Amino acid sequence: MTEHTFDLIVLGGGSGGLAVAERAAQHGRRVAIIEPAKLGGTCVNLGCVPKKVMWYAANLAHARHEAEGWGFTPIHDRIDFKKLVDGRRTYIRHITDYWDGYAKDMGITVIPGYGKLTAADTVAVGDQTYTAPHIVVSTGGRPFVPPVPGAELGITSDGFFDIESLPERVAVIGGGYIGVELAGVLQSLGSAVTLLDMLDSIIAPFDAILRETATENLQALGVSLHLPFKVQQLVDTPEGKFIEGADGQRLGPFDTIIWAVGRAPNTRDIGLETVGVTVERNGIVPTDAYQNTNVPGVYALGDITGRVPLTPVAVAAGRLLAERLFNDKPEAKLNYDTIPTVVFAHPPIGTVGLTEAAAREQFGDDAVTIYETRFTPMRYALSPQGYKTAMKLVCVGTEQRVAGLHIIGDGVDEMLQGFSVAVKAGLTKAQFDDTVAIHPTASEELVTLKVPRD
Ligand SMILES: Cc1cc2nc3c(=O)[nH]c(=O)nc-3n(C[C@H](O)[C@H](O)[C@H](O)COP(=O)(O)OP(=O)(O)OC[C@H]3O[C@@H](n4cnc5c(N)ncnc54)[C@H](O)[C@@H]3O)c2cc1C
Repeated sequence: MTEHTFDLIVLGGGSGGLAVAERAAQHGRRVAIIEPAKLGGTCVNLGCVPKKVMWYAANLAHARHEAEGWGFTPIHDRIDFKKLVDGRRTYIRHITDYWDGYAKDMGITVIPGYGKLTAADTVAVGDQTYTAPHIVVSTGGRPFVPPVPGAELGITSDGFFDIESLPERVAVIGGGYIGVELAGVLQSLGSAVTLLDMLDSIIAPFDAILRETATENLQALGVSLHLPFKVQQLVDTPEGKFIEGADGQRLGPFDTIIWAVGRAPNTRDIGLETVGVTVERNGIVPTDAYQNTNVPGVYALGDITGRVPLTPVAVAAGRLLAERLFNDKPEAKLNYDTIPTVVFAHPPIGTVGLTEAAAREQFGDDAVTIYETRFTPMRYALSPQGYKTAMKLVCVGTEQRVAGLHIIGDGVDEMLQGFSVAVKAGLTKAQFDDTVAIHPTASEELVTLKVPRD
């Protein structure tokens, strides 16, 4: 029989929920996770991991095009998309099976179903109730679809992972990181992709050097860009689906249209308002720096808090919350500054710290020094087509502390982690320059940039 009283109850077995539950169990606490779907949440089932599998496949598709220049016999075979999807699903199943076994080994009780708070220390799942002095809400988000006529003709990133055969003509609506990633994967694998956004730029919050170079690279890849384009409605015709814009423009026909215009938190109808927890109009649950909501004993983690919506952020915040609650570390909390992130585009994009615009606003123009470079890397020496690499260091103060580092190009996804240690540690441009370069690499540029940009 399942226990009904715990030290900690967690709503949501995704990145944040599993992290706080695991750490609490390691400290000997009785923990329950309530989860309606598979353990692992968005990242494992419908996000980072299956997306990255597709990205690896897309990279191989590129390598196939490049190989001829390096002396390989041309390879013209199209991808067996179903085989790729089956392989991806098996891989994901191994991960969720692992989590099922691991939770059991850790003594964590997994309760299947949707949790709903009925009091600050009580959660209902169906007709059962469970109590704990500490309740963590980490219910994540779901793709947002705007209420335009015909919106249901489009799928979302969730639906992307249900696709069984490669669509020939695809439109991706939304040039944020998810839209850019899906557009890149599909175009690389053989679809003809159109990407549109209501703004005049893709990946809008990123530094200008990344936005500009990513746009060039997407176009070089063959993606057709329409910026700005405000969708008015989607229509279905015998020829395929069309997208009509507010300015009368019509794009199409498409076989598949993917909405990638943002995500909405899963915070409605789960009893938060009933027990007095503040939920903002957009569904965000605000917390203080320690993940406390306004109701004592109820905490919020991960995407629903409206901070940086990334898996390692939810994981780190969850572990620190467990340290604070169950390991006598009252000051434990996540520092949300200087968090690195990568967009798995083709080639990838990496960013950490302040953009040039943010640094100028924060410190003033006179205090900001910019070093940057753009080049086609040696990787494409013998290939017919080369994607651009670009790098920028945003330095502040007379000591030229590197406050922002922005890179795009092959290999930057792996390059960024190490450099973000340096940025987080507050190293200066002189300390970067004092590091001997590794040659020949693209990353050596980051420690050999000599002349500031005018
Ligand atoms: C396509 C895509 C690609 C992404 N790629 C990356 C990437 O490359 N790198 C990266 O760092 N991040 C990536 N992310 C973001 C990352 O997945 C999220 O930031 C992360 O999963 C957030 O963790 P979370 O714990 O807040 O929520 P989630 O992982 O979403 O977990 C929430 C869980 O709560 C459950 N739930 C919902 N309602 C209830 C309820 N009432 N009771 C109980 N359980 C409930 C859900 O079923 C879900 O399992 C990606 C996201 C998407 C959509």
